[in-house]
Amino acid sequence: MELLTLPKPGDGGDFAAGLSDFLSGLGGKKIRCPKCGWRPRKEDLWSCGPPCHTLWNTFDTAGRCPRCSKVWLHTACLSCHQWSPHVDWYEPDPGAGT
Ligand SMILES: [Zn+2]
Ligand SMILES: [Zn+2]
Repeated sequence: MELLTLPKPGDGGDFAAGLSDFLSGLGGKKIRCPKCGWRPRKEDLWSCGPPCHTLWNTFDTAGRCPRCSKVWLHTACLSCHQWSPHVDWYEPDPGAGT
């Protein structure tokens, strides 16, 4: 009889490690709305959902609420109010050669 230990899926336990890799890969990347091209500034704030309602700059944390740790995989544009996948907001690196 063989017992296998499998990692628990879906609880986001390794998100912190993934987030830090993700953020380090984003150094210097420009951010703009993929729908309308609006560029958020440092002082622009997004609101978490109820009951949290924390206001923070979602691009500081790659979409993760600093208070309740909810991860927002989609980000609403403050200009055109359309939702786009968070990763789509980061402009591709023109120096990457792809
Ligand atoms: Zn929250
Ligand atoms: Zn937009």
